[in-house]
Amino acid sequence: MEKRARMLKSAEILEDAFGVPRWAHELHDPVSTLVGTILSQNTNDRNSSAAYNNLRKRFPKWENVLSASEKQVANAIRSGGLPEMKAKRIRGALKKIKADSRTGRISLDFLNGMNKDEVRDYLLSIGGIGPKTAAIIMLFSLGIPAFPLDTHVFRVSKRLGFIPEKTSYGKAHELMDALVPDALKASLHVNLIYLGRKTCHPKNPECGKCPLARMCKSAFGRKMFSTEEALLCQKRERRARKEK
Ligand code: SF4
Repeated sequence: MEKRARMLKSAEILEDAFGVPRWAHELHDPVSTLVGTILSQNTNDRNSSAAYNNLRKRFPKWENVLSASEKQVANAIRSGGLPEMKAKRIRGALKKIKADSRTGRISLDFLNGMNKDEVRDYLLSIGGIGPKTAAIIMLFSLGIPAFPLDTHVFRVSKRLGFIPEKTSYGKAHELMDALVPDALKASLHVNLIYLGRKTCHPKNPECGKCPLARMCKSAFGRKMFSTEEALLCQKRERRARKEK
C-alpha cells in the first residue's frame, strides 16, 4: 500500500479513536492566533494559555500592547517563559502588521485576496514566525489549507513512513502539505499531536496501545494492508477530493 493510502487510513483510524477535533472546524482571529502561537513556543499549553489570558486582561486591545513598554508586556506574559524574547517578538509582529495594513489597524484582513504562497511568504517575513506558526495561522484563522508540523507531528510522521527518516524539518512541511488532502489537514494535525503526546513518545513509544500499530513501519517494519482496507482507503480519498 502506498504512502498516501496509508496516510488516509491513519487519518480515518485516528478520527475513529480520538474523534474529529472541534477546533478543526472553527476559525479564530488571525492576530490572536499569531500572538497565541508565539506565546506557545518552548512551553506547555497551560503556561501559554495563562500568559495569553493575562496579556489580554492587562492589554484588552492590541494597540495597548504597542503603547506599553517591552518590560510591561514581558511582565504580563511571564508565566509563559522567555518573557523578554516573546514580548519583543509580539510587539515587533504587531508593529509590522499595523504598518503593512496601511489602515492604521492591527489586522491581517489585507491578506484576503492573496494566494496561499503569498500569504505564507508574508507571514514568514514577520520576525519569530516560522513555517509551523505560519501554517497554524493559515489553517485555523484564515481558512487556507496548510499542514502545520510541530515536534510531535514531525516525529510520528517519520515513524509512520509518511516522510523519509532523514527529511529536514523545513522539507517535511512541504511534503506533508502536499501529501495530506485539504479536507483532512486540520483533523490529522490535531490527532497526530495527540497521538505523539499520549502514545508515540520520543523515547519508548507505547506501540502496544497505539491505534496505528498494525500499519506503522516503525512498529512492525512491514505493510499490513488487506485488499478490503485498500478499497476503503480509495473510497475515502474520493470523498476527500469531493470535499476540496
Ligand atoms: S506504532 Fe509505535 S512507533 Fe508507530 S505511531 Fe504508534 S506508538 Fe508510534
